[in-house]
Amino acid sequence: MSNLSVVHLPQILKCYTSPKPITACSNGIPFSKPKSGGLAILEIPLDKIRRPLMRTRANDPEKVKELMESIRQIGLQEPIDVLEVDGIYYGFSGCHRFEAHQRLGLPTIRCKIRRGTKETLRHHMR
Ligand code: ADP
Repeated sequence: MSNLSVVHLPQILKCYTSPKPITACSNGIPFSKPKSGGLAILEIPLDKIRRPLMRTRANDPEKVKELMESIRQIGLQEPIDVLEVDGIYYGFSGCHRFEAHQRLGLPTIRCKIRRGTKETLRHHMR
């Protein structure tokens, strides 16, 4: 009997030793950071968002005015979509909300961030 307990004790202890920290996914990326293609919601300074197509599409000034009034009263209800490629943020939509924030003098805007690759970026630029 005493032999048995000597043999089995290390096996029991192994069960309580986790080889990996439980705060990380299987690929080692913490849960708080989105994986490629994952989504995160962040407040981002307006001047950190590049808008490559800004000069090719005009906003409706009436829409912008209405949004300014609404955002002033109740805040931004729906974040804008932003693509993150190599740590740089790109905005292709949400143009009226973005301009409304600019005109209101707000320093940041709430963004729904999706990570992408240079290929994703090229696709958006087409
Ligand atoms: P944008 O170019 O910003 O997408 P749109 O006029 O096409 O402008 O759409 C306005 C969007 O802004 C809608 O999806 C609406 O749900 C969203 N939104 C977010 N916050 C507000 C707000 N406070 N008042 C009105 N619409 C808002």
